[in-house]
Amino acid sequence: MLLKFAEVAGGHNFRKDKADRYRHRYYRKGKYVADKVGRLACVGCGRCISACVSNIANPVEVFNTLLEDKQ
Ligand code: SF4
Repeated sequence: MLLKFAEVAGGHNFRKDKADRYRHRYYRKGKYVADKVGRLACVGCGRCISACVSNIANPVEVFNTLLEDKQ
């Protein structure tokens, strides 16, 4: 989610906006790997949930809802 994390060689950054980084965070765990191997990359450990002090990030809930909607 950090701007510097998305920076690549030469100082380029393909995800300058927070929204782009947030979308990539979900896609990385819930789409890219799932499209390739049919399984989520999120194991449901909950570390991101417990680290989110404003309690707005809950990928496990999002992924579970998406999976339920798919079935
Ligand atoms: S619960 Fe959060 S920290 Fe744990 S694997 Fe899923 S996305 Fe990553």
